[in-house]
Amino acid sequence: MASTRRLAILLTGAALALAALPAAFVFAQGGKGGIERLYILNCGEGVAGDISRWSPGVNVGKSMDFVDSCYLIKHSQGWLLWDTGLADAIAAMPEGQRPSDPRMTHWRRPKTLVSQFEQLGLKPSDIKYVAISHSHPDHIGNVALFPQSTLLVQKAEYEWPAPVGPRFKPELPVTKLEGDHDVFGDGSVTIISTPGHTPGHQSLLVKLPKTGALLLSGDAVHFKDNWDNRRVPENNSNKEQSSASMQRMADIMAKEKAQLWINHDKAQRDGQKLSPAFYE
Ligand SMILES: [Zn+2]
Repeated sequence: MASTRRLAILLTGAALALAALPAAFVFAQGGKGGIERLYILNCGEGVAGDISRWSPGVNVGKSMDFVDSCYLIKHSQGWLLWDTGLADAIAAMPEGQRPSDPRMTHWRRPKTLVSQFEQLGLKPSDIKYVAISHSHPDHIGNVALFPQSTLLVQKAEYEWPAPVGPRFKPELPVTKLEGDHDVFGDGSVTIISTPGHTPGHQSLLVKLPKTGALLLSGDAVHFKDNWDNRRVPENNSNKEQSSASMQRMADIMAKEKAQLWINHDKAQRDGQKLSPAFYE
């Protein structure tokens, strides 16, 4: 029958159209492989003594609850952990870790990173890549748990002189980046260079099949009010770079229709699903 033949032609055409799709598109859609899910891990909770430290001249003397988030991404090519949070050892401190400067954050760790991995049936050795936003202690506290993973860090951060000893163990596997980096080669997870908070600070653009595009801030911004007003914290390594990076993030968010997920923003994270729940 003519209609059957027409249907056959249509189906063949559809198959050819699918075959012509670039692999990156199929991966990004979560079809044959690609990015599958993202978990938010609790990597610390704390109270900042004086948030004017992050917004000079504004909210002087006002304290604020902070969280510290890590993000775990499952991709068909392997697991990626974005930031490692505060050191797991802090979980054993009854009063948490008091800051040397009372304006900074008094951190506690209600759960270890390892215990949250165990809940998912994972071991640190299962992680292919550990990417860090920057080298402050609340982000690299557990890097030493991952000697088998490849560390993804900007060369400028890796080589940034530390007050005491090197920031990273030179014997551990590392890829030193100079700018943006498409981690899995399919556009689903891209490191975005956002210097300013530190010399080699970076953020992460994630394209999930159902949730859509997310930009994980790192510490390019600490809470929403500072983002809305583009405020630069007093201790950032470079004010001009910080402002330029925030503008770059805003441009990328507009282009990719991406949500901004702010690492330390408790109000935002209170509305998000934490591991073992996940985003697809
Ligand atoms: Zn931080």
